[in-house]
Amino acid sequence: MKKQVSRRGFVRMAAAGSAALSWLGGRRAPLVFAAEVDKPALLGGRPSHNGTWPRWPQWRESWEPEILKILRSGRWYRGSGVGSVQEFEAAYAKLVGAKRCLATSSGTTALITSLHVMGVDAGDEVILSPYTFIATYNAVLMHKALPVFADTDPETLTVDTTSIESRITQRTRLILPVHIYGLPCDMDPINAIAGKHQLAVVEDACQAWLAEYQGRMCGTLGDLGCFSFQNSKHLPCGEGGAITGNNDEIVDRCSAFHNCGRATGSLQGSGFFTRGSNFRMQHVQAAMLLQQFDKLVRETETRRENANYLSAELEAIPGITPVRLPRNSRAVWHLYPLRYDEKHFHGLPRSVFLRALRAEGIPCGSGYHEQYNDGLLDEALASNGFERLFSKKRLQDYRESFRDLTGNRLVCETTVTLSQNLLLAKRVDMERLIVAIRKIQTHSEALVKLAA
Ligand SMILES: *Cc1c(COP(=O)(O)O)cnc(C)c1O
Repeated sequence: MKKQVSRRGFVRMAAAGSAALSWLGGRRAPLVFAAEVDKPALLGGRPSHNGTWPRWPQWRESWEPEILKILRSGRWYRGSGVGSVQEFEAAYAKLVGAKRCLATSSGTTALITSLHVMGVDAGDEVILSPYTFIATYNAVLMHKALPVFADTDPETLTVDTTSIESRITQRTRLILPVHIYGLPCDMDPINAIAGKHQLAVVEDACQAWLAEYQGRMCGTLGDLGCFSFQNSKHLPCGEGGAITGNNDEIVDRCSAFHNCGRATGSLQGSGFFTRGSNFRMQHVQAAMLLQQFDKLVRETETRRENANYLSAELEAIPGITPVRLPRNSRAVWHLYPLRYDEKHFHGLPRSVFLRALRAEGIPCGSGYHEQYNDGLLDEALASNGFERLFSKKRLQDYRESFRDLTGNRLVCETTVTLSQNLLLAKRVDMERLIVAIRKIQTHSEALVKLAA
């Protein structure tokens, strides 16, 4: 058993074993039982963790009076007067260090609006990393534009910036970096490429509230930044989103588009004047968000502390690789990802590793899969619109280009994720998580037999 476990790891494991005993009742442990603790739960041992983790989302009764006040007023939508939505926009802009913020009904509609305003139109191409939530693909497709995938860097899980330039064509309008899991993209090279080819940059910061790159926050590094406040996000209000930007006219155009095309701000004076839609946020949603700012800031620090601890510990485990961040950047860990190499676990498939980890009381997942093979793109490309807009050859080349996404494939096949609420737990919970992984590694040969 000690073969693969360092002395330090072994001592730590033994310590967590006795910690586990204390939460199991505090009785003096019989020796047989102590050995049981060392066995993976999937092989009949005691789980490393009791499986209780902070819940998400969280509600505070102290938020209720403000919400009730809005409900009772009957002034529910942003057009019924200055209220929480406008207050939220000013406060969120300040929080992330942007000149302006526009609240929207979701992260998806923030993206759709931003792409429209930055000039993405039918038949255009947008370059993005495929390693993202499907809404990023959908926002591009919604404009009848082609989502062209740059590769994913297996070390950072964000876009491989060296793979962007070769994908630029005459039709490329925009680069859409995604700060996936709250990991900042390496924005300097992206902005340099965009500048050289006169392309716009819209950041998908829908998982990156308060993430930092070179001293500035994600969502303020391109032309526009998009955020999501959906139920699962770090700043949740059920559904909601925001666009941040530093250019008044551009944000005013976003505001018009999201509000049925009504002119606002610098564009005022002509009534209805552009194409638009209704992507407005309501006051109740904004009030929910405003109440959670301090909480978000505090929890971001907690997640960072725990993530830093995990990364330092995991670094020492052969076959487990924490993610690398760009120089001078700070992640916010919407998910905590690690890369799993089965070679160091006697060939234990990732799926069984995940099962074993769950049995230890650690909820975990496998991140995104190769979504370009899922049918969504086939359906889009086979539609009348796409067939009219793109040549047969372009669409064929496009489909074949997915094969070159070797970095992304590797990431999809080897990533293990822990969700953000785990990072809100205590240091001792993180220690047990490390113990669980070490235990699985020590017994991986037996687990492989179980899987066979
Ligand atoms: C959540 C999310 C979106 C979409 O946001 P919604 O508010 O759910 O519409 C877009 N991109 C990424 C990366 C996301 O995580």
